[in-house]
Amino acid sequence: MVSPVLSVVYSPVFLEHRPPSYHPENPSRLLTAIKALERLGLWEPREPEPVDPEELLKVHERGYVERVREASVRHSHLDPDTYVSPGTWDAALTAFGAVREAVNLALKKEGLHLALVRPPGHHAGRSGRAFNAPSLGFCIFNNAAYAAKLAEEVAGRVLIIDFDAHHGNGTQEILWNDDKAVHIDLHERYIYPWSGYEYEVGGKGAEGTKINLPMPHHAGDDEYIYAWNEIVLPILAQFKPKLVVISAGFDGFLEESLTTLRLSELFFTYAGSTLSRYPLAVVLEGGYSVGLDRGLPAFINGYLSGEIHEVPVRPSYEALRTVARVKEIQSEWWEF
Ligand SMILES: [Zn+2]
Repeated sequence: MVSPVLSVVYSPVFLEHRPPSYHPENPSRLLTAIKALERLGLWEPREPEPVDPEELLKVHERGYVERVREASVRHSHLDPDTYVSPGTWDAALTAFGAVREAVNLALKKEGLHLALVRPPGHHAGRSGRAFNAPSLGFCIFNNAAYAAKLAEEVAGRVLIIDFDAHHGNGTQEILWNDDKAVHIDLHERYIYPWSGYEYEVGGKGAEGTKINLPMPHHAGDDEYIYAWNEIVLPILAQFKPKLVVISAGFDGFLEESLTTLRLSELFFTYAGSTLSRYPLAVVLEGGYSVGLDRGLPAFINGYLSGEIHEVPVRPSYEALRTVARVKEIQSEWWEF
């Protein structure tokens, strides 16, 4: 039986966003996640409605939205990394619908509400590519930024935590001047999309609302749990959000091949457990193989168990330095 504190919002329409040939961001990702949830007895999806295309304008420029709509009448590429197909438009509108439902559920009741969606979104900026990024990085419309905007309309403010292995540059760009949206982002430094450094703290009037943790290459559970304890948990305790939006990417899992990160169930379980007091709207980002098979269920299990097991850690010198630098910069707005 599915737990009363878990909902999964999913539509088979998400499988219709299809690459023209082999691509890591493909429909089988969701099938991997579904199998993992089935294994836990947690697969009982709710089917979302697509949103009206006007909803996309909450986070994107009309010109970009039209460009995607026109391109996706056939198989084509928005850039060398990012494809569209005849199913993309409907999948993207339905993904926003799933996000809206997850946020509404999280605003109404306790629990973890997962929007199990494709295409992913956190690299998509207001008009496409964000900051210095060379591409959209497989993303079409920014699901997490939309979740943040919806949550803000009702709750007045929102916390977003992005633990995808890559920086959520699109989310950061869209929310850059928004002082009601606190965005904490842990990711591997010096890789795509080449942003998300410690000194990126938010635009004028919103300084201190963007918190970047650019983790060293090869960082694993010790480094991530350390950063989580030292930065994420203190901000969570001080901000006291009504709900938390999670940009949930599992591509930092050991043996996922896109980065050098070495995370395991230990980090994802721990992270989930520390969030169990908060309603969550969880939006799927990256994760291409083992991360979805093992990281996603670990995060959900940690949340549902609600038991925080302290984990002794020995972070690398580089991670200690990164966290110290973040504290030094952010202590103007937060206490650590
Ligand atoms: Zn990623």
